[in-house]
Amino acid sequence: VHQDYRKWETTQVKTTCPYCGTGCQINLVVKNRKIVDAEPANGVANKNLLCVKGKFASYKFVTSGERLKKPLIKRDGEFVPVSWSEAINYMAERFGTLKSQYGPDSLAGFACSRSTNEDNYVFQKMVRTAFGNNNVDNCARVCHAPSVHGLGITLGSGAMTNTIADITTDVDVILLIGSNTTEAHPVIGAQIRQAVQHGTKLIIIDPRNIDLVKNSTLHLQLKGGTNIALINAMMHVIIKEGLADEKFIAERTEGYEAMRDLVADYTPEKVAPICEVAPEDIVKAARMYALADKAPLIYCLGVTEHSFGTEGVMSMSNLAMLVGKVGRPGCGVNPLRGQNNVQGACDLGASPFDFPGYQKVGDPAVQAKFEAAWHTKLNDKIGLTETQALPAAQTGRIRGLYIFGEDPMATDPDTNDVRRDLENMDFLVVHDLFMTETAKYADVVLPGLSYAEKDGTFTNTERRVQRVRQAAKALGGVKVDYQVFSELATKMGYEMAYDSPSAIMDEIAQVVPSYGGINYERLEQNSGLQWPCRTLDDPGTPILHVDKFTRGKGLFKALPYQPPDELPDDQYPFLMATGRQLYQYNTRVMTDKTPGIDQLAGRSYIEMNTVDAQKMGIKDGDKVQVSSRRGTIQTYAAVADVVSVGSVFMTLHYHDGNANVLTNPHCDDIAIIPDYKVCAVKIEPV
Ligand code: SF4
Repeated sequence: VHQDYRKWETTQVKTTCPYCGTGCQINLVVKNRKIVDAEPANGVANKNLLCVKGKFASYKFVTSGERLKKPLIKRDGEFVPVSWSEAINYMAERFGTLKSQYGPDSLAGFACSRSTNEDNYVFQKMVRTAFGNNNVDNCARVCHAPSVHGLGITLGSGAMTNTIADITTDVDVILLIGSNTTEAHPVIGAQIRQAVQHGTKLIIIDPRNIDLVKNSTLHLQLKGGTNIALINAMMHVIIKEGLADEKFIAERTEGYEAMRDLVADYTPEKVAPICEVAPEDIVKAARMYALADKAPLIYCLGVTEHSFGTEGVMSMSNLAMLVGKVGRPGCGVNPLRGQNNVQGACDLGASPFDFPGYQKVGDPAVQAKFEAAWHTKLNDKIGLTETQALPAAQTGRIRGLYIFGEDPMATDPDTNDVRRDLENMDFLVVHDLFMTETAKYADVVLPGLSYAEKDGTFTNTERRVQRVRQAAKALGGVKVDYQVFSELATKMGYEMAYDSPSAIMDEIAQVVPSYGGINYERLEQNSGLQWPCRTLDDPGTPILHVDKFTRGKGLFKALPYQPPDELPDDQYPFLMATGRQLYQYNTRVMTDKTPGIDQLAGRSYIEMNTVDAQKMGIKDGDKVQVSSRRGTIQTYAAVADVVSVGSVFMTLHYHDGNANVLTNPHCDDIAIIPDYKVCAVKIEPV
């Protein structure tokens, strides 16, 4: 019997894109209870725009036949489907045994930056209460943790200072550093392009000849890993030419003298050979930025993913404060956060350093507050980061790990070592939509719900809390994620239960001052709310640090340039960076379920400069072998002048030709982030 599809009811459900931190609003078109299309909705951040991922790749994965549907327990090396109660009882027993045998600090959990605020809040609460430690983290550790730490130290809030609309509308100059915006945050990239069409000048500081260079006034194609030297040289020029904002510095900042004395040595002539840029371009960039009235500084992972990533972020604050461009419209220091809810995961305490709301672990008053709110004793020791917890499996310090919505086998550096970490874990739970590379090493695999099957909120890169709305019925047999965490915590002895995501947000508002005025009723009436939003009559805060910095005075830091941990040498002569491209998203676990995407971008590649390729007899499309001190992969050469001579670039998306087999796990000292942007490799024709 054929049903008449024309009679099927079509509805649109407005929600938030499941990919990058732009936070575009999408209408999911639902027909006969199935999502059949996605249309742009008019969100504040996206102004009716969507990129290829939001438009075409935001719903087909939801109904993919590859979705996990039942909990699985590994028995004799094979995954066996079990009931939820059996899985949760088994997990509680195994985590509980490890906890009594090796102590609470032997367990850890990684939360999910693509899941909702409500899921992240309940997950970290489960780790802190039932596991009994602060070993909880999220994927910010491998992307923007330096922004959280660096902006927190210098300005007092680890977040974008202004709004997307504000930094792309009627501004004189945009200073874009280490952000391939049209590929990683395409809708913001489109807005930058529109700004240029309306007269904004664009300065790009990036080692690659990225697409936006076509729209720029000035491109400083610096050598990877030399950001701090370049920014110090720009500040040298600004101070020397009397372009610093002395009034702002005197009234609103501290620590200036030490920074000024340090950059006195960073003349453009001295720095130019370090960065491999022309000294006159450093001078030109410094003048353009300093002399502009409205000039936002926008940056991304090209600043953070380094051996000195946190210092790199602090140098962004130095530069903006030096010219008084913080706390004003059309200015600020603006990190573009990667995943759709990585800002929210950090805000809500998926961090070993912070309880929800960046309230510090180890502060007795904070500890007392959360003990009273959660009615339990809490561990007062700062926990391990993701980058510390994984290797700790090899020393026996971490024995049990719960990974929710992350895939370290694909995303973390030195894949061969990550494999050893996972193999050494006594008990591993992976909770995800699909059987990921990491899930293959798990003892228990749990099916998760996608964004389209749940209610909740995401917080985008501009601190805007926006609704996520259920458009499709939850896949049969899959439990709501926060209920899984609550039931596991309860089984482990800490009772926890929530009626709805809205009830979780109400609890968040009680314990996180910057979310104090946020609830679902207000979110329905507004286009999201930007934190800090402290009370029910607070409209939210589009621009931070207007009258004073969150920390009181803005803090200058004297930051000497230090070379990256691993530089090219005779054995490994190329400097390799990794990054993203437009069509795929991170590990491709969602994007590769959309037919067509793999035809556009279906295999790994390594970008090489034409001069290097010709010297080695390598042609565009040739298969090559790439090795670093940590491993070897095979991939395909993409020969063009996007990278400089001596540099190469790979994306992080592909399991075949996985760039992270090569990357360097060495971490920065403050945010403990690995250096994904500089490692030494050699290339051989195959
Ligand atoms: Fe989604 Fe980001 Fe694309 Fe917007 S720009 S549609 S949030 S992936």
